[in-house]
Amino acid sequence: MERFDYDVIVAGGGMCGLITAAAIGVYSRQKARVLVVDRNPPSEPGKKTINGWTCGDAVSKRSIDYLVDNIGIKYGTPELEHPVEGVLVYSPDHETKVLFEGQGFVLNRKILPKRQVEDAKKVGVEFAFNVACDRPYSEDGYVRGITGRNLADGSTYKKTAKMVVDAAGNATKLRPNLPINSKIELDIDRDDLESTGRYIYDFEVAIEDPTWFDSRYALIHLDQYIAAGGYAWTFPKGKNKVNIGLGVQKKALDMRNARLGRKDSLQDLIDEYVRMNKAIKNPVQSPGSDDAGNTKGSWQVSVRRHNDCLVANGYAMVGDAAWMARPIDAGGIGPAIYASVMLGRVIAHSIEANDTSEEMLWQYNLDYMKHHGYQMASFEVLRRYLQTLSNEEISYGMKHFLSEDDIASIVNREHPKFSRLRLLNPAMLMRVAKEPKLASGLKHTADSSEELIAHNMNYPERPDGFEAWKKRLLTLLSAAFKF
Ligand SMILES: Cc1cc2nc3c(=O)[nH]c(=O)nc-3n(C[C@H](O)[C@H](O)[C@H](O)COP(=O)(O)OP(=O)(O)OC[C@H]3O[C@@H](n4cnc5c(N)ncnc54)[C@H](O)[C@@H]3O)c2cc1C
Repeated sequence: MERFDYDVIVAGGGMCGLITAAAIGVYSRQKARVLVVDRNPPSEPGKKTINGWTCGDAVSKRSIDYLVDNIGIKYGTPELEHPVEGVLVYSPDHETKVLFEGQGFVLNRKILPKRQVEDAKKVGVEFAFNVACDRPYSEDGYVRGITGRNLADGSTYKKTAKMVVDAAGNATKLRPNLPINSKIELDIDRDDLESTGRYIYDFEVAIEDPTWFDSRYALIHLDQYIAAGGYAWTFPKGKNKVNIGLGVQKKALDMRNARLGRKDSLQDLIDEYVRMNKAIKNPVQSPGSDDAGNTKGSWQVSVRRHNDCLVANGYAMVGDAAWMARPIDAGGIGPAIYASVMLGRVIAHSIEANDTSEEMLWQYNLDYMKHHGYQMASFEVLRRYLQTLSNEEISYGMKHFLSEDDIASIVNREHPKFSRLRLLNPAMLMRVAKEPKLASGLKHTADSSEELIAHNMNYPERPDGFEAWKKRLLTLLSAAFKF
């Protein structure tokens, strides 16, 4: 008789949980017994909050391709709702635009999880819906299951496993209540969270103005007035359909409100952003069944580097539970896809070796850091720096200090080097003289970025190197955060 109910319990069946479970099934050739536990009913998989599958829905094609190339899962219509040629970021004065990301899709996040549940079932994954995970369950210094509640009747729920994957998103109750010693940071700083919200609207085109709506591009608007400490977005879902919303940092919003003598809330600002959009007339919350119950919502997203350690004995985190969204644009779907596939592979090997120790799972830390996560600390520095700038400074910097190379770096998800500021020609000197603080601030973020990336590429091969590595990381970060 097996000692544990399952090999792996995945807590949370959202974007990450469903891909991780499927990846374990694929890599273990269906031998691992995997259970996904989610609080949603089976008719509503992947629903993030009571008000829907709240997201901007944008994902790059290369992230989707990674899934196909590695675990053979290919999405199509209707879940890939609308293709885009890229993501354009507009300066606050709308005079400069930067291509931030290549081809991609705007997803239907209500439909996609249904497809993902089927994909997971095909490789043998089991599901427990209507169950809230409240606490990790531990034995002998290992996480060995979860305890929670059956939401249908309030009865206690407990299942055991060789390990647990925490994929329960931003509001996970597992990480903060981890009952064993670990290298994992348990709590997030409030300033590293953004409050975000959005509508899904059908609308009439008021005027053709591609700086406000373009069915070929996902648009990001930087604007410290409308989205203090964050950004606003207008992502097309068709020629007359849009996902439109914004995110703010609470501290930046409080400062902005105090400065302007206003009391604007997140929702006030989202409504104002919709009204100021020159291309959108008569918006109505999209009435179709594909969007019902998902047209207005708000939720949180983290904008710091991912947790410096992602594993412990019998435990691993992925996605929003591990703060994986990219600090600069809160894009979490791409990291979710990469990390879930990598984690699935490592877990399949660990289960095969009958070893779910921190040391065995460590490979996931290494894979994620070396293949995707190494940029995140430098993006955290850039995000913090951008939050100190005014609209005028952002517009000026984007117009005068960003070079073609910087833009290419951004498209490749790398920190821009602001090389124009390093190799100053006479024309640049004049500009720098006008905005010396801005120029030196941007150069400082680029310099820190090089050090942080080098340090991350040197992530310790084994757990015993972690303490020294982390100490050095914190030293580098504290210098980098001095703008
Ligand atoms: C407004 C907004 C806009 C965004 N826009 C974008 C964007 O355009 N592009 C992009 O890449 N990223 C975007 N993101 C981020 C992206 O949505 C997330 O990074 C991504 O959904 C993370 O997936 P996840 O599986 O980690 O978490 P989630 O998608 O939140 O899934 C968590 C799952 O766990 C379940 N769960 C939670 N708690 C429990 C519990 N106690 N017990 C049982 N089950 C539980 C939930 O029901 C859910 O099914 C946005 C986020 C927000 C809030």
